[in-house]
Amino acid sequence: MQPAQAFAQPSQIEQSPLSRLKITEIFLSLQGEADTIGWPTVFVRLTGCPLRCQYCDTAYAFHGGQWREIDDIVAEVLGHGVRHVCVTGGEPLAQKRCLTLLAKLCDAGLSVSLETSGALDIAGVDGRISRVVDVKTPDSGEAGRNRAENIDLLTAHDQLKFVICSRSDYEWARDMVLARQLHQRTMVLFSPSKDQVSPRELADWIIADRLPVRFQMQLHKLLWNDEPGR
Ligand code: SF4
Repeated sequence: MQPAQAFAQPSQIEQSPLSRLKITEIFLSLQGEADTIGWPTVFVRLTGCPLRCQYCDTAYAFHGGQWREIDDIVAEVLGHGVRHVCVTGGEPLAQKRCLTLLAKLCDAGLSVSLETSGALDIAGVDGRISRVVDVKTPDSGEAGRNRAENIDLLTAHDQLKFVICSRSDYEWARDMVLARQLHQRTMVLFSPSKDQVSPRELADWIIADRLPVRFQMQLHKLLWNDEPGR
């Protein structure tokens, strides 16, 4: 992990003309997770994140990036000729104009999902968008950043995602799901943190507890082993 001061922070990112966003990459791949898994999807990765999860696999999006006009981003996405688009990061909501991009992608007739850390307010996100919201577990190192109010805003159109790093993380997440009946509100996803919990172990725990959550492994990691841009 690089020193925190080397990374672009939201306060820096906001100093720009009103119609632009800082973008790390735009690429066509297969959706690797959540309920649209397997669909050809264009990914728009926004630069910057105020969190530092210990397992982060997109630290290359913390800094750098290029300023792009929002209308040009929409045009590039449409140029790929597929129906699904996923806006991700970093933490895309750290750039407030992300909300404008999301609405314009919907207006263009695309099926839009948003991947967000759960640390920032999702209330302003266009209702047409499927929000995939993380709950940071204790062993992520960022559980203190969870924004509890976000969970009350979720609907059946959204998803709540836990990345499990240990048995104690699993028990913490399991207890939260059951205590708050989260599966009644939205789809709940449990993923193993790579090299920390084996997929089989996590699958066995879920089955043993008959937990009403959906196990998932990240398809893009199986196919391309975390290569950027895939
Ligand atoms: S919120 Fe996502 S992008 Fe930010 S540090 Fe955590 S895993 Fe990485």
